[in-house]
Amino acid sequence: MTDLILVGIGDIAKSKHEPAIAASEDFTLRAAVSRHHTVEGVENWSDYDDFLVDGPEGALSLTAPPEARLAMTRKAIAAGRDVMMEKPPAPTVSAALDLAQRARKAGTALLGSWHMRHGIAVLEAQRWLSGRRIRRVDVEWSEDVRKTHPGQDWVFEAGGFGIYDNVTNAFSLMTILLPDALCVTSATHEIPENRSQPIRTDLEMEAGDAPVALKADWRHEGERIFRIEIETDRGTLVLPDGGHALQADGKTLVEKGEDREYQALYASFAGVLAERRVDVDVRPLQLAADAFLLAAATRTDAFDF
Ligand code: NAP
Repeated sequence: MTDLILVGIGDIAKSKHEPAIAASEDFTLRAAVSRHHTVEGVENWSDYDDFLVDGPEGALSLTAPPEARLAMTRKAIAAGRDVMMEKPPAPTVSAALDLAQRARKAGTALLGSWHMRHGIAVLEAQRWLSGRRIRRVDVEWSEDVRKTHPGQDWVFEAGGFGIYDNVTNAFSLMTILLPDALCVTSATHEIPENRSQPIRTDLEMEAGDAPVALKADWRHEGERIFRIEIETDRGTLVLPDGGHALQADGKTLVEKGEDREYQALYASFAGVLAERRVDVDVRPLQLAADAFLLAAATRTDAFDF
C-alpha cells in the first residue's frame, strides 16, 4: 500500500476521492491538506507549503481547481513528490506540457487524470468501434450548473473554463474513442453579461472525414445529458451517460451500474507509480483551447447561482 495525501478538500474530494481511496487496494490515506476542513482519522495540515517541508512521505492527489492547482503541482514536483492531478491538468496547454517536462526532469511520477475515461462502458465502446469507419458524431453535454457546481464562482472566472470545465470530460472520451484526431472548425459561445466564461457552446469539429457536432449548456434543467452518438459504416453506437453505459443499434451492451470511475482512476495512478511514468494527455485541454481561439462570442442574460 502507498501512503496518499489528499490536497484540497472540496466537492470532488469529498464526493469521489475520499470514498475511492477508502475502497482502494493500492492506497492508504495518510494525511489531508486543507485550509478549511479536516478529515477524520488522519494527519491534517492547513498550510500546503508547511506540509511540503515537514509533512509525511506519500504521493499527492491534488484536487483544487486548475488555476490554484498549477503552483501547487510545480511545488510538489520540485519537492520530489509523485502527483495525481484532478482534471484538467493545468489552466493552459503550455502549462500542462511544462508540468510534464518538470516531472520528467525531476524523476517524479505524474498523472493528469481524466476520470471519465474510467467509466465501465469505455473499453467495450473502444472494442466495438475498432475497425469500423466513423461517418458522423453528435454529442450533447448539458447539465444544470446550479446543481453540479452550486456557488462555485471560479468556474466563470478566467482560468475556470466556464462550460468547458464540463465539456473537457466529453473531449476526454472522444479523444480515446475516435481513431482520427479531432479538429475544431467553428465555435459559438454564450457568455453571461456578468461573467467572463461561456455558459453555452456549440461546436463543429472534424474527425478524419466525419463531421462532429457538440452542444453543451449549463442552463439545462432536469436530468443531465451526457450523450455521445457515433454513426459508423456498420451501425450506430450510443454512450447515453458519459462512460457509464453503452448501446449499439438500439441494444444495450453495457447497463449502467455502480459508479466506480474514481476507484479505477486510483488503480491507474498505482500503475503510473509502479512504472514511474509521466502521463499527461493534453488533447482534451487542447480542444478546449482551440475552441476559445475560434469562438464567436455573444453576450447573454446575467447568471447567478
Ligand atoms: P471546489 O470544491 O470549488 O474546490 C476544491 C478545493 O480546492 C477547495 O475546497 C479548496 O480546498 C481548494 N482550493 C480552491 N481554491 C483554492 C486556492 N485558491 N488555493 C488553494 N486551494 C484552493 O471544486 P471541485 O468541484 O471540487 O473541483 C475541483 C477540481 O475537480 C476541478 O479541476 C474540477 O474540474 C474537478 N472536478 C470536479 C467535479 C465536480 O463535479 N465538482 C467532477 C470532476 C472533476 P480547501 O478549502 O480544502 O483548501
